[in-house]
Amino acid sequence: MRGIPVITRFAPSPSGPLHVGHLLAALRARQLADAHGGQCLLRVEDIDTRAQHPEMLELMHADLAWLGLHFDGEVMVQSRRFGVYNSWLKKLRDMGVLYPCFCSRGEIKAQLAEMGRAPHATLGYQYPGTCRSLSPNEAAERIASGMPHAWRLNMQRVQDIIGCPQWHDLRRGTQRCVPTAFGDVVLARREFPASYHLCVVVDDAEQGVTHVTRGEDLFDATHIHRAIQGVLGLPVPAYCHHSLLRDNAGKRLAKRDGARSIASLRAAGYTPELLRESLQKALGNGGIWNI
Ligand code: GLU
Repeated sequence: MRGIPVITRFAPSPSGPLHVGHLLAALRARQLADAHGGQCLLRVEDIDTRAQHPEMLELMHADLAWLGLHFDGEVMVQSRRFGVYNSWLKKLRDMGVLYPCFCSRGEIKAQLAEMGRAPHATLGYQYPGTCRSLSPNEAAERIASGMPHAWRLNMQRVQDIIGCPQWHDLRRGTQRCVPTAFGDVVLARREFPASYHLCVVVDDAEQGVTHVTRGEDLFDATHIHRAIQGVLGLPVPAYCHHSLLRDNAGKRLAKRDGARSIASLRAAGYTPELLRESLQKALGNGGIWNI
């Protein structure tokens, strides 16, 4: 990697307090940048404005400062960027790779149950493509009549345009992306004007991120991100999907496990050094966090 300025990022969603899993993700990003004399940026992924609480954002900054984690450059805040995401959505619409979908969640589940299809482990239900074949007139009429709809990416068209491009994972090696593998994902809907999949790709490109470090629960999503990068002509970073922390039962730690929040561990008397030591211990123990 010599010669290439390495730029990584930590991209938490402040919908709950930061927990030890976030500490691991932040350290991975910081360490990779530091190992190459690069930069580690901070991005607040708060597009789901229904799930955000201003006090969580304050707590996040306080936790990061307490942990002694520092970031380079300006903080990017997704909820201030809906105009940017909208212009990329328009580009996709103009390319003919986005289509409106009028199916409700219940209808999709019923269609999939009828087809005998189970949800995917990390990406949930894969859309069976019902509205993909609606005529432009029918779709326009439904929109004009005020029917609620989402905008989905037509992965077959994407695949026709970009084929099956590669991406590189630092731990797992070269991967081949098959755009159609996970169905036509939603890129926007009424109450959610831009989806995670779109924003993450646009923002990684705009921030010049060269190495995306994140949990392995997002490994499959990277295929979707690679497809979006391909069709939008955006640069393709390298990826490193790190393993996740788990509890004694093997369940991955999540925000709802309040006892592992940084704030509660701090309140229980932990110092940042002790927390990092405990994290090292957990990593040496197969990622089991049993505090
Ligand atoms: N915002 C996501 C999270 O908090 C991380 C997304 C990413 O790293 O791409 O889990």
